[in-house]
Amino acid sequence: MRKFCPKCHTWKSNKDFNHGKCKLCEKSERDKRNKRISFERIHATITEETGIHIIGVDVFNSDRTVIEARQIAMYLIRKLIQPKPTSGTVGKYFGKDHATVLYACKTIKNHIDTEKEFCQMIDRIEKKLLS
Ligand SMILES: [Zn+2]
Repeated sequence: MRKFCPKCHTWKSNKDFNHGKCKLCEKSERDKRNKRISFERIHATITEETGIHIIGVDVFNSDRTVIEARQIAMYLIRKLIQPKPTSGTVGKYFGKDHATVLYACKTIKNHIDTEKEFCQMIDRIEKKLLS
């Protein structure tokens, strides 16, 4: 049995059109989204939102706010980019190791769960990136 996808106007096999979703359309939507959301764009948006430069700052001189802004970037990169980049890849971009990235994601999730204002800020950045 074949199904017609109203989005890409082609007939699909059951395998490619599953639960009302067309694989081809899903893939192109994902590609479009990925083109919009890159490491660089997340990085730039956070700098714009927080006014903090998160790369190129002397690692040993990093204060709390720089560390936190960088953690937000790591968290959002892992959350928004599909397929999800490994913690090692994200770490390399920031000149950090994978454990730092995993720790950052955990820390940010924890902040989101416990601090309303922080949660709203992350929401705002995410919306900006997805628009
Ligand atoms: Zn389709």
